[in-house]
Amino acid sequence: MSVQKEIPYKIYLQESEMPKQWYNLRADMQKKPAPLLNPETRQPATLEELSQVFCRELAIQELNDTDPYIDIPKEILDFYKMYRPAPLVRAYCLEKKLGTPAHIYYKFEGNNTSGSHKLNSAIAQAYYAKQQGLKGVTTETGAGQWGTALSMACSYFDLDCKVFMVKVSYEQKPFRREVMRTYGASVTPSPSETTAVGRKILAAHPGTGGSLGCAISEAVETALSLDGYRYVLGSVLNQVLLHQTVIGLETKAALDQYGITPDIIIGCAGGGSNLGGLIAPFMGEKLRGEKDYRFIAVEPATCPSLTRGRYVYDYCDTGMVCPLAKMYTLGCDYIPASTHAGGLRYHGMSSTLSELYDQGLMEATTVQQTEVFRAAQQFAQIEGILPAPESAHAIRVAMDEALKCKESGEAKTIVFGLTGTGYFDMPAYQKHNDGTLTDYIPSDAEIEAALAKLPQQ
Ligand SMILES: *Cc1c(COP(=O)(O)O)cnc(C)c1O
Repeated sequence: MSVQKEIPYKIYLQESEMPKQWYNLRADMQKKPAPLLNPETRQPATLEELSQVFCRELAIQELNDTDPYIDIPKEILDFYKMYRPAPLVRAYCLEKKLGTPAHIYYKFEGNNTSGSHKLNSAIAQAYYAKQQGLKGVTTETGAGQWGTALSMACSYFDLDCKVFMVKVSYEQKPFRREVMRTYGASVTPSPSETTAVGRKILAAHPGTGGSLGCAISEAVETALSLDGYRYVLGSVLNQVLLHQTVIGLETKAALDQYGITPDIIIGCAGGGSNLGGLIAPFMGEKLRGEKDYRFIAVEPATCPSLTRGRYVYDYCDTGMVCPLAKMYTLGCDYIPASTHAGGLRYHGMSSTLSELYDQGLMEATTVQQTEVFRAAQQFAQIEGILPAPESAHAIRVAMDEALKCKESGEAKTIVFGLTGTGYFDMPAYQKHNDGTLTDYIPSDAEIEAALAKLPQQ
């Protein structure tokens, strides 16, 4: 019998213990997620077709549902070493404050300038674009985390990066914008005069503040009109989930060193990339019948794709140019209430997570934003880290589960993903501090109206 090791506040892996391969969860799924469809032919998208939109190597990863492990190229590993391994933190202070017998751990992904886990995939996507000899990539950004991560990754590999930023965010979040420009990206407020679709929207709606859908359309048009450019996405796709498995692999390696087996694993879910990456190696064990865990996806009540959406084929982008994915979705035109300040506003959910949820292998729950920000503030005051509002969705549910343990007296082990920091979200925190944040639950009629616009199945 080994002596129980004392568990430190932070478990850091050694550099040499960092994962050298990503884990492809789909390889272990008996029933695979449905294939992506070409939006024009409605047939499964081929490698050739996907390669027109995405980098070739990324298209290969997108279609690969057989190889369980995929080597991480050395150049990407070297970049990861600049800000990884990420710490797995034992939330001793939070446990004490809550008076719970539960053991709470969180994987903190905010230790890089972009402030979130998105850099894990941005650097991989930029690497493969460079390998292919491309000149640059285009993308859209709303709140700005993805655009920031991609700007950092592109500057590292000396690639051009064109970001279309929703105009209201461009004007209201000058700091995010300037971080991207400092990394060398060009940031264009969308809608803009630089694209046909932008000019059309401006003519129809002069003075509009823009939308994510419009920014995507501009980014796609720009990528297609320029030689040597591709459009890239920061979530939802299989390739993004694959890159994000470094989160879960590191978490599992750290827990294994101390012989800890979690009971519950919790993550916030926008498009599903951080959650998919965190749970992947644990879900693999569950799928192979080796161990059992509870997995909980947390979504905002204003954008409840898993809990109130429909499991059908839908467009990944409002521009309707990317392939169709079978996923839990609210319809690609769904726009969360304007009072919603907490992120996670994507209309659909990763097809892999959707399939796992549909098979009953994962749970999902919703939370309201006032309770989310209360949890965020409590966490900041106790654990020191000012969380991104997105991450605070997971904090809320982790705290709720820990409080249930207090009632039942069970010492469960809870792991959650702390995806990023909230320094650029101070307008939302300001509303919280001023007491002007409100909750909003869309009515069934609103959800039905959005679902009515789903593409014909
Ligand atoms: C983008 C983002 C999310 C949500 O995206 P997923 O793809 O669902 O992980 C969560 N937290 C932070 C900090 C983000 O920037």
